[in-house]
Amino acid sequence: MTAVQEERTTDDLRALAERAGRELEDASALEILRWAAETFGDRFCVTSSMEDAVVAHLASRALPGVDVVFLDTGYHFPETIGTRDAVAAVMDVNVITLTPRRTVAEQDAEHGPRLHDRDPDLCCALRKVKPLEEGLKGYQAWATGLRRDESETRANTPVVGWDEKRGKVKISPIAKWSQEDVQTYVTEHGVLTNPLLMDGYASVGCAPCTRRVLEGEDARAGRWAGRSKTECGLHG
Ligand code: SF4
Repeated sequence: MTAVQEERTTDDLRALAERAGRELEDASALEILRWAAETFGDRFCVTSSMEDAVVAHLASRALPGVDVVFLDTGYHFPETIGTRDAVAAVMDVNVITLTPRRTVAEQDAEHGPRLHDRDPDLCCALRKVKPLEEGLKGYQAWATGLRRDESETRANTPVVGWDEKRGKVKISPIAKWSQEDVQTYVTEHGVLTNPLLMDGYASVGCAPCTRRVLEGEDARAGRWAGRSKTECGLHG
């Protein structure tokens, strides 16, 4: 950590994010991540749902050994946990697994079973939003794999923006990429992907809240299907 990184105030970080958002709009994903590596050093991390390891791979090229933060909600598909373990084993990254304060069994005892069916917002708050908030405390900036083409709610995602809720710079280096761009990168670099993507799933989240997508549906249609909920609260 450099002295400059330690001294940055929230206002400094906000101004930095807003300026970079404008200046890096036309930069490549790797250029954006190189800027993040130079600007934040080890106060920068990537978050990954382990749907694929594209952003983690890009970030490891910009900052070898970069922290890759994974939220283990206790409800993941075994394939997702396997993808995380494979990423940790073969890539030049430091995988950090965050867990909620309560196990699924403890949550069931407190709130009743299948909270995800009755109050998914509360379940996501307890198992995703809160652990991430705590896990990101030491960082000034975090990168995500959000893409504008994934859904209407993500259509205006900036490549670098300000995360008001957490007081951090939020970087979405592949915001402008299409699914085809992702596939091309995966093929060219042999990037690990979640096996469920080959089994009809277009977006992979917790098992109880994820189904396969149907022809013509957008990539996130299989998440909380049948509910008005479209996001878990990590990106709102
Ligand atoms: S996605 Fe579903 S199971 Fe996972 S934390 Fe949210 S409500 Fe709970």
